[in-house]
Amino acid sequence: MNAVSDLYQLTIHEAHELLRQRKISSVELTKSALTRMAVVESKVRACITITDESALEQAAEADTHIGTGHIQPLTGIPTLVKDLICTKGIRTTCGSKMLEAFVPPYDATVIEKLKAQKAVILGKTNMDEFAMGSSTEHSAFFPTHNPWDLSRVPGGSSGGSAAAVATDEAVYALGSDTGGSIRQPAGFCSIVGLKPSYGRVSRFGLVAFASSLDQIGPLTKDVTDCALVMNVLAGYTPRESTSVPCPVPDYTKSLVRNLKDLRIGIPQEYFVEGMQQEVRDALETAIGRLKQLGAQVDREASLPSTKYALAVYYILAPSEASANLARYDGVKYGFSAPNASNAIEATERTRQSGFGPEVKRRIMLGTYALSAGYYDAYYVKAQKVRTLIRQEFEDIFRKYDALVTPTSPTVAFNLGEKLEDPLQMYLADVCTLPINIAGVPAISVPAGFVDGLPVGMQIIAKPFDEETILRVAFAYEQATDWHERRPPL
Ligand code: GLN
Repeated sequence: MNAVSDLYQLTIHEAHELLRQRKISSVELTKSALTRMAVVESKVRACITITDESALEQAAEADTHIGTGHIQPLTGIPTLVKDLICTKGIRTTCGSKMLEAFVPPYDATVIEKLKAQKAVILGKTNMDEFAMGSSTEHSAFFPTHNPWDLSRVPGGSSGGSAAAVATDEAVYALGSDTGGSIRQPAGFCSIVGLKPSYGRVSRFGLVAFASSLDQIGPLTKDVTDCALVMNVLAGYTPRESTSVPCPVPDYTKSLVRNLKDLRIGIPQEYFVEGMQQEVRDALETAIGRLKQLGAQVDREASLPSTKYALAVYYILAPSEASANLARYDGVKYGFSAPNASNAIEATERTRQSGFGPEVKRRIMLGTYALSAGYYDAYYVKAQKVRTLIRQEFEDIFRKYDALVTPTSPTVAFNLGEKLEDPLQMYLADVCTLPINIAGVPAISVPAGFVDGLPVGMQIIAKPFDEETILRVAFAYEQATDWHERRPPL
């Protein structure tokens, strides 16, 4: 591991220690990650844009900074960013032809925060177009492959970020999660992925899919790294009305090795019909481990409205998307179809050829749900059920400190398997969607393997209690070795 050529395998906390002691430089670490990319990227295809030149410049700057005695937890450490987070001067495509040539004139708040620490940005990762999907196959450019089995999907929509971290192309990555897009790919690739509480991390500069559900979060190799990245990302911003002015703790303080007196509920409704038996078995073993660590586990926990979450999500998310995506008219942003004879035709042609089939499906679903004749029956009804789901979560957290469920009902599926069947694709997120509807935080951590394919465990807590999630996640991780395994590439 001490060979400079293997530096790409390091976690954030390991790399930080070596940088601090000046045993390695950020330029060496960055070169190692870029070399790793050159080896695995042709198989995995996690990246849309690789910014090797500016990454090496940033690394050299970080080294100078460290040389003057200044180092913060992310200083000099290479990262990849999902391609819907605005990066000044770096193309931000959202996995869409519509924004194929869009270069943002400003940085998202989270990017400003990384840059303030002198982090190194290696490039932008592949994703389902506008984050709509669960497999990264809806990218307008190419699908990403699961590093554990190249014939399978990495999950989505942050599939590029998850696959890149699992293959050590980057030390960590940023993703976004509207209904499961950080947690589900983290589970499919055997890494750690956290969706923070709604309002915890700034969405300024995140290209909007469904604004009342979207959150940015970290994808990392272990729970310690997740806490370190959250320390940087979390916090109030006056630039955004939904940002919550709630103090940010030091998340590394939650990393303790026991679960004594912690009350953990297992909501039965998340062990859905059609769930893969081996995934169920893996979860049982994991729950047994939580008990050994001192948790009081209650299997009778119940969230009865869970069965409505999928329907609520697929009314509200497309409704918000249809409004958010109205801005892509060929005038203000990105692609513009040439040779139209009037303005209406120009907009029609731009949207016809700029958007892919899944995005069009969502816009149609949303426009329908919001149309005058159906607004009350669909949109308003879904909002009411959303309130019920939120209330159920409020109530259940009076009884439990955390909830534990599978991240997904199955392991990673084959490329192409669900592409022609949208409903099957939507079902991949049954366990993760309710969390966004309720606005609560949740993590996925590695919890075993089925025939060489990873299983994820989801840990959920009440709003703004990421600390309890990290405590459970860390204690479990330290008692297992799943997070130490790497795909055989
Ligand atoms: N798979 C879900 C969807 O397609 C969630 C996506 C996400 O979280 N961005 O909408």
